[in-house]
Amino acid sequence: MEEKMPAAEAAEKETVSKNFIEQEIEKDLAEGVYDHVQTRFPPEPNGYLHIGHAKSILLNYGLAKKYGGKFNLRFDDTNPTKEKVEFVESIKADVQWLGADYEDRLFFASDYFEQMYECAVLLIKKGKAFVCDLTADQIREYRGDFKTPGKESPYRNRSVEENLRLFEEMREGKYQDGEKVLRAKIDMASPNINMRDPVIYRVAHMSHHNTGDKWCIYPMYDFAHPIEDAIEHITHSICTLEFEDHRPLYDWVVRECEFENPPRQIEFAKLYLTNVVTGKRYIKKLVEDGIVDGWDDPRLVSIAALRRRGYTPESIRMFVDLVGVAKANSSVDYALLEYCIREDLKLKKARMMAVLDPVKLVIDNYPEDEMEDVEVPNNLENPELGTRKVPFGRELYIEREDFMEVPPKKYFRMFPGNEVRLMGAYFATCTGCEKDENGNVTVVHCTYDPATKGGSSADGRKVKGTIHWVAAKTAVKVECRLYENIVDEEKGKLNEDGSLNLNPNSLTVLTDCYVEPELGKAKAYDSYQFMRNGYFCADCKDSRPDHLVFNRIVSLKSSFKLQK
Ligand code: ATP
Ligand code: MG
Repeated sequence: MEEKMPAAEAAEKETVSKNFIEQEIEKDLAEGVYDHVQTRFPPEPNGYLHIGHAKSILLNYGLAKKYGGKFNLRFDDTNPTKEKVEFVESIKADVQWLGADYEDRLFFASDYFEQMYECAVLLIKKGKAFVCDLTADQIREYRGDFKTPGKESPYRNRSVEENLRLFEEMREGKYQDGEKVLRAKIDMASPNINMRDPVIYRVAHMSHHNTGDKWCIYPMYDFAHPIEDAIEHITHSICTLEFEDHRPLYDWVVRECEFENPPRQIEFAKLYLTNVVTGKRYIKKLVEDGIVDGWDDPRLVSIAALRRRGYTPESIRMFVDLVGVAKANSSVDYALLEYCIREDLKLKKARMMAVLDPVKLVIDNYPEDEMEDVEVPNNLENPELGTRKVPFGRELYIEREDFMEVPPKKYFRMFPGNEVRLMGAYFATCTGCEKDENGNVTVVHCTYDPATKGGSSADGRKVKGTIHWVAAKTAVKVECRLYENIVDEEKGKLNEDGSLNLNPNSLTVLTDCYVEPELGKAKAYDSYQFMRNGYFCADCKDSRPDHLVFNRIVSLKSSFKLQK
């Protein structure tokens, strides 16, 4: 069952059991069951990939790499109803972006239809498969349940010759959808319902994105998947827990189809995250209702959305490593993902000046038309990033919250009479403000001390507050989008009617932000720290040269601490 645990605990607990798949692989190699490792990621091209798929991709790729093996990308496109070519392209891009290199091994299950057909014929010849005329409802009824054994189909004892003829006729299009199926002949009394003569082929008069109208019979997943793995010489077929009960059937198929060195299936727990939506059904509705602006809306956790928001492949790899591989389903705290992106960007990105909620600051004793450059370090924690010049002048923008006419206790920013440091520039003492008729502050005034250039005084005078700023004359106006989780699990993910309980504050759009000129050059996916405001990434969809849009990836601080 799914249960919730804090991220740090999850990270710690799951690291312990992290290597159970590796242990199995090492055992297989030691015992000579396999002499190599071959893994695959087998998506169905019926939607965009999400963070859970990222885990599967990186796990499979990582295992291949660790054991000097190979990793395949294979589209499991055996179900022509739901598949779209559009998804094939997006999935390829996502897998590549994550750094899981499948080299020239891009495969499509539909390329194996002929071999699958031959496997079915082999089963018929061995008396291990039969054509059945029962309807879908009858098959379900005959199947029984956990308490009741199944009943054998009256068509179960057809001769090999008759089965071969009927199966060929199915292929030739003699039958309507649902009129006949091919079933494996296993055991109607098996305690495992998957083994009760499962359907392995069905008639479906449908066009397929790859094979067109060549086929009107299609293999079922439980039959097709093991064959796909076997054809590609996969050694370890890693999948999620819901397939555990299907493993005996997987083994039956590769054995009865007489593959040499058959692959083995190993299951692990799906990755779930708190406060996010991953179900395709829900996301589709959010897109259709215009609540999000597509599958890559930065509030979602599709890989495209994470990339757009500003997450890096490194941060996702770190996240997946910290979560580890588990045998029991659990939800990981979204905060762990945020921790990973902060860690990744911390030393890599320059810390820039950007004012999100601006109010003007006028330095009354600074010469009217003068501008100067001040030199600031790009990242105090990483001197390797060097320094840059930021223009400074008489009129600046500062954050509205950095001025208060009547300050509360322990407020060290601008208030009349108080001296602060304008980051990287000078000390400045607030002298007052101007207000409009409603009492809103419109301009803050101050004077500066020219002897404090660089932000320190020769006389050893100290200030308690340092605030960031952007020179008005050279400022670039941009839009910033701030995000919160789209659902709040604490308050309940779903409403009583089953709809999503949406967080009304999941998106805040700030249209009048001012940034230093350097940020005006940002290209799609460029990311920075905006001092005191968080990490931001230039939006790839809505940014134009004359109207830049920045997404906040994550704020700077969190209550989350990784327990080591
Ligand atoms: P969804 O139900 O979210 O659409 P899916 O299982 O239908 O996912 P597939 O394309 O069939 O998506 O899955 C491709 C691979 O990704 C499978 O091996 C599947 O087990 C794995 N996978 C899917 N969801 C997760 C998850 N949340 N965590 C880890 N692996 C996952
Ligand atoms: Mg699926």
